[in-house]
Amino acid sequence: MLEKGLTRRDVLTKAVPAAAIAGVGLGALAQQTRPQGQQIPPAGATPAAPGQVMKTMAGQMYGDGQYQLPPLPYPANALEPFISAQVLQVHHDAHHMAAVKGLNEAVTKLSDVIKSGSYEQVQLDGLMRDISYNGGSHMLHSLYWTTLAPPAGPQNLPSGAIAEAIDSQFGSFDQFKAFFSHVAVAAKGSGWALLTYEPISDGLAVFQVGDHDMRIVAGMRPILVLDVWEHAYYLQYQNKRADYINAWWNIVNWPAVTDLLTFFRQRNQ
Ligand code: MN
Repeated sequence: MLEKGLTRRDVLTKAVPAAAIAGVGLGALAQQTRPQGQQIPPAGATPAAPGQVMKTMAGQMYGDGQYQLPPLPYPANALEPFISAQVLQVHHDAHHMAAVKGLNEAVTKLSDVIKSGSYEQVQLDGLMRDISYNGGSHMLHSLYWTTLAPPAGPQNLPSGAIAEAIDSQFGSFDQFKAFFSHVAVAAKGSGWALLTYEPISDGLAVFQVGDHDMRIVAGMRPILVLDVWEHAYYLQYQNKRADYINAWWNIVNWPAVTDLLTFFRQRNQ
């Protein structure tokens, strides 16, 4: 799976604009098309080109033969008061960075094992677990930054294709919101709530994921992710996970979520 992933990322890296490869961030792509001095577009802004969000993100997650930490697509204080600059900075610079480092180390070790051909002498279980755990963490954290944006206003609601898909799958946005929030609140210990694109039925599915990788079906494509590890909120909200989740809805970047749905749908045709 990883070998295929590397090939795919290489292709994506070549497909994204030079600005994205240079690591200037998703927000910077938008900056290119607006007058200087304006703030990063709020949630509700339209992505530059359909499917671009995933391509840009992938280009920032891997380069020069290594997985790498993508830059935050906005200043660390851009999501205040909902997520503090301190929480965001530590989360990105320390926790996400540790996953990138762990993933690169595990992939290198696995590569050595494959070359040596001495499978009996190593504990493959531990290596596979490291790759699943850190690879899941790298992917989900990258999506987490990408699917957040500065507050769009008192009403931050989805529109267009994602709104239609949510209504079709869950009855209404309010029903989806209540269910997704419950899944996130109820996650035991460290985990995530995920809204995923389900390619077989061309529908949506919600998963409660343990750690960064447990209990998700292969082939699911996360398009909206909510980190409920304590490091994502404890410095600001302490034990009040539900308050963090309520705040999080205000900063969901629905245009980015819509664009991820578009990307995966296009590739499923
Ligand atoms: Mn996290």
